[in-house]
This record gives sequence, C-alpha cells and structure tokens, in this order.
Amino acid sequence: MATDTRRPVGQLCGRVLLRGSIRCLTGLHIGARNDDPAVGGIDEAVLRDPLTLRPYIPGSALRGKLRSLSEQAEGREPNRESGGVHIHLCTRPPACVVCRLFGVPSQLETARPARLIVRDVYLSEDSAQRLAALRTDLPFTEVRVEAAVDRRSAAVTSREIELVPASAVFSEMELVVNVYEDQDLTDFGTLVRALALLEDDYLGGGGSRGAGSVRCEQLAVIPRSVASYGQPPAGSPLQLEAANVRELLERSDEVLAFLREQIPVPETETTADTAPSESAASDEEQPSL
Ligand SMILES: [Zn+2]
Repeated sequence: MATDTRRPVGQLCGRVLLRGSIRCLTGLHIGARNDDPAVGGIDEAVLRDPLTLRPYIPGSALRGKLRSLSEQAEGREPNRESGGVHIHLCTRPPACVVCRLFGVPSQLETARPARLIVRDVYLSEDSAQRLAALRTDLPFTEVRVEAAVDRRSAAVTSREIELVPASAVFSEMELVVNVYEDQDLTDFGTLVRALALLEDDYLGGGGSRGAGSVRCEQLAVIPRSVASYGQPPAGSPLQLEAANVRELLERSDEVLAFLREQIPVPETETTADTAPSESAASDEEQPSL
C-alpha cells in the first residue's frame, strides 16, 4: 500500500471563480430566522443589509439550497442535523461529491474542509435604483397578503409576506471552488448542475406558492492558479463566459479542459475517491474499514 504522495494532499493549486447575476422571475422571499438578531424576530420579513436596508441573498441560503439539491440529485439521504437543518454527511470514506464540495465537520472521520465558498449576493445598483423609484410597499420590496383557511374552524386568517419584486437582479454572485486535486475540477461540473437544478426549483421561502423562481445569467468561469496570485494582475483576466447555466452545462467538456489548462494540478498517487484506504495518507484520520 503506497502512502507517499508526490506532493502534500492539502496543497492548494488554485481557485475557480464562478461569477454571474441572479435574476428573479417571481418574487423572492429570503427571510430571517427568528434567532437572527438582525431582524428582531419578524417572521415574514426579508433579510436586509443593515447598512443600506437593501435585501440581499445570504451566501448561506444559496449554499444550503445548492447542497440540498445536490444531495437529492445524488440520492444522498439526510443523516445528520446541523444548525437545525437535516443534511447528508458521509460517515465513512470515501466522501461523495456532495461532501467534497460542501465539506464534512471535523468530528467525522471523513472530515474535510469545504471546497466551495458562496458569497452573499447583493441587489444590483440598477435594480436598487429602479425599485427605489417605484416606491414599493416597503423600501425595495412589496408585501403580498396570503390567506389561509383553518380547516377546523373555517376561519380565514391572512398573513403578509414580504417579497423582492420579480425582475429584480442580484449581482454579483460569486461561487469559489478551491482546487487541491483534479477531482475538484470535475466537481465544478456538479456545482453547475446544482445551479441548473435550482432554476427548476426555488430559492428562499414560499416556493410552493410561486415565489423564488430565479435564473443565473451572464456567467463567467475564472480560473486562478496559485502561481498567478504572485504576479501582477493581467489586463483582462482569462475567463470563459456563458449567457446562462444551460450554455455552461452544454459546454462542460470545454469548461473542464479550460480549467485543467489554467490550473495545473500535479499528480498525486491516488485520491480518496478511487482508493478509499489511501485516505489513511492523511495524518489525523485513520479510517476504520
Ligand atoms: Zn457524502
């Protein structure tokens, strides 16, 4: 059993940035949880940037949705609770693609840092100005009244849900995949697929009642090798552009070749996925097979 690798397993080779914008096709409601101190326990309010009061999409909300959709697409049943949400975590090596991208906490033997970073996405300046000019119900948002009928008493109760209006655009979205091995480059394709799944699903709350339909547009895949960080920035960064997720999916072979060309990944003897027992190469974790 060969345990020596040609380079340290934890050596960062580069990063892949996926940038773009998120357009709301229907109203978007990303609410704050009651335990979020920023909103004082209001149930149906949207989350806002405390400085500008503009609504935004927290990276955690987008990330959680992408994880959930990836778990479903991979057929991974939730088996752990984390922060009040049930998620899937591989408890034995090898880690699946979901766990590789989204990470596994340190107490499990499959522990690994998440490859994926999802940043907060803010309302575009253009949309903010347009919504401000429209004088919506609340700053930048509209309030929809939804009626609910109690089946026992037949009483009708109404509640108000705050929505970012349809056609608003959030930019710029930035998803970052840290690249340690070639598999991280192929896993980038799984991330793009998660965005495609998101477009046929919904983001935020009220999705089953029409809210949260979004499109990711004006996408750019930007590879950055570790070596490039020490050099003066190029005039125009090398990037691959796609109008939408569908186009990016159709060009997935081209995208992977582009990433492999731009982020050289020195060969390792093996990866955890192809030979589970080799993850013993990691100093701390000893898999119990
Ligand atoms: Zn897993």
